[in-house]
Amino acid sequence: MLASHERPRQAASTILESPEAVLTTLTKDGRRNWMYPVPSPGRYHTARRLVAWVLILLYVALPVIPIGGHPAVLLDFVHREFALFGLVFYPTDTLLLMIFLIGVLLSVVLSTALLGRVWCGWGCPQTVYLEFVFRPIERWLEGAEHVRRRRDDGPWTFDKAWRKTAKFSVYLAISLLLAHTFVAYFVGWDALLVWMTGPPTEHWGFFVVMAVTTGLVFFDFAVFREQMCTITCPYARMQSVLLDPDSLIVSYDPTRGEPRGKRSKTAASGDGAPAPGDCVDCGACVRTCPTGIDIREGLQMECIACTQCIDACDAIMDRVGTPRGLIRYTSEREIEGRRTRLVRPRTVLYTVLLLAAVSAFAFTLSSRGAYDVNVGRSVGEPYTTLPDGRVANRLRFRVRNQTGAASTFSVRIVSVVPGAGEEGHHPPVQADLNPVGPMPVSLAPGEMARLETWVMIPTGGFDDGVATARFAVEFSDGTVVEESFPLLGPNS
Ligand code: SF4
Ligand code: SF4
Repeated sequence: MLASHERPRQAASTILESPEAVLTTLTKDGRRNWMYPVPSPGRYHTARRLVAWVLILLYVALPVIPIGGHPAVLLDFVHREFALFGLVFYPTDTLLLMIFLIGVLLSVVLSTALLGRVWCGWGCPQTVYLEFVFRPIERWLEGAEHVRRRRDDGPWTFDKAWRKTAKFSVYLAISLLLAHTFVAYFVGWDALLVWMTGPPTEHWGFFVVMAVTTGLVFFDFAVFREQMCTITCPYARMQSVLLDPDSLIVSYDPTRGEPRGKRSKTAASGDGAPAPGDCVDCGACVRTCPTGIDIREGLQMECIACTQCIDACDAIMDRVGTPRGLIRYTSEREIEGRRTRLVRPRTVLYTVLLLAAVSAFAFTLSSRGAYDVNVGRSVGEPYTTLPDGRVANRLRFRVRNQTGAASTFSVRIVSVVPGAGEEGHHPPVQADLNPVGPMPVSLAPGEMARLETWVMIPTGGFDDGVATARFAVEFSDGTVVEESFPLLGPNS
């Protein structure tokens, strides 16, 4: 029996004896276990390649295609302006943006509960670019997997050096392109082009951002690779709570495949031994896996549902003359011989919540005005008494144009009544408005502009030091927005 202080060390060494069981990218001596996934042509690979190239075009085009005067997708954090397929969110749309993000989160949760990690295998830029851009270039310049592995394990030669140099040069060029596309999502191509064509001395910040982004993209696709999915990605970490036995997964069918074994051996075995399963233990599914796992060991967090093992195994099944689908899209429940349920408590709950979020979003969006008007007091004295005896308040009007067209606005006073609240018992008082700067004020689409103005009323126009002013902000398209604001003055 171990002393209690020895147990943790024993437990740790037990784990380290088989690190690849914990992390396929790790060797026993703690070094990187480099993956050489063998491509597996097949129906899924063909379909994924088609989807991948459509997505690549889309990823590049989204920050460029204009919809309603904005890029299809723009996440301008600096100016706090977000454009998504014609919808534009401004800093004042916090609620709308929050509901939108909740909707996105619920969509991810619902789609994962139903379809598992389809996004990872088919749509994620990490998979799309790695499998359909970077790896094909690597195969083109460095050869097939077994050739690359042998060369990588061998000494440095001229052949190895020029191939690596060529590969990393192409990688760097593509990383530069991807980095520009990525940054365009946050600043827009217009700003990007200005930065790219201007002298570097004027845009040092841009060059630093671009250099760092290019470096990160290069590091990800040239070095880090599948570890982004198996170690870093938070979505992968959440799989254990997002998936259930009815979720769609890529799975090996052990009831059909076991007992596995080479055909010659299993066929020879007799004397009461169970009939051989369909798995001929060829290892093709493991050799093709980009994350290095053996799907026959069951559902694992590292599986990105890329379907390469399905294509690999289908080809083997064709060769040995047994039906395809030993590895297939299925669910754990179906593998156990029961029917997959689409309608289950969690999918119903997620759907209801998603519908609620969509409804709330539609309602909030429809009730959002074309213009956002905010009245406030300018910094400084709350009020000033003028030589002619009137009291002046300096106010600022912050107005955002939430339409897609240019506009102008001007402000006029509708009424001023003594006291707090517009339903006072006093008659309205005479008031004058004296803007600081020209009026009307121009507003480009999406632009926010400020107008500062003095509002003057007689000293006797206050009740308990307050008068309530009502303003009309009038826009060139005929829209009128009325706002009230308290004016401050001396106690009368
Ligand atoms: S590819 Fe199919 S037959 Fe070959 S080891 Fe994998 S599951 Fe078994
Ligand atoms: S187990 Fe199959 S589906 Fe999962 S990552 Fe590996 S090859 Fe792709």
